[in-house]
Amino acid sequence: MEKLWAPWRMEYLVQEKPDGCIFCREGNDRERLVLMTGPLTLVMLNRYPYVNGHLMVAPRRHTADLAELSDAEMLELFRTVALCRELLSRSCAPDGYNIGINLGKAAGAGVEDHLHLHVVPRWNGDNNFMSVLADIRVVPEALLESYDRLLPLFAAAVKGG
Ligand SMILES: [Zn+2]
Repeated sequence: MEKLWAPWRMEYLVQEKPDGCIFCREGNDRERLVLMTGPLTLVMLNRYPYVNGHLMVAPRRHTADLAELSDAEMLELFRTVALCRELLSRSCAPDGYNIGINLGKAAGAGVEDHLHLHVVPRWNGDNNFMSVLADIRVVPEALLESYDRLLPLFAAAVKGG
């Protein structure tokens, strides 16, 4: 546990330790911060984001291995990443994005055994306060505010919007 990347370590410090994988856990979507569940993938708001609107896209199947993904999973994962980018643009108009995967603890993966992509909106100049923010506990209300703002956009997209 001590070696976990800081944003994720905070999750373990602040929350009662959840059982099992955060992507596979059953339960209330809003409590889990799940914004969308597709046939093969799901979208979740990062509980300890670098910035507001930090999303994670994961295959629904529990796997850590890129090579284990089927073609259908790969396609849906990347399509969902593209959808996240589009909906974030509509919701909070970022200046740019970081989109990527941390594979393995050495690369900073907080959840090592369930592959996921990060979609992180960025704003000009946000580097300046990122290091400050890194030590500040994220207010849960702000997270749910982001969740409630994004949820209708994802719901509309699923309906075919
Ligand atoms: Zn899992």
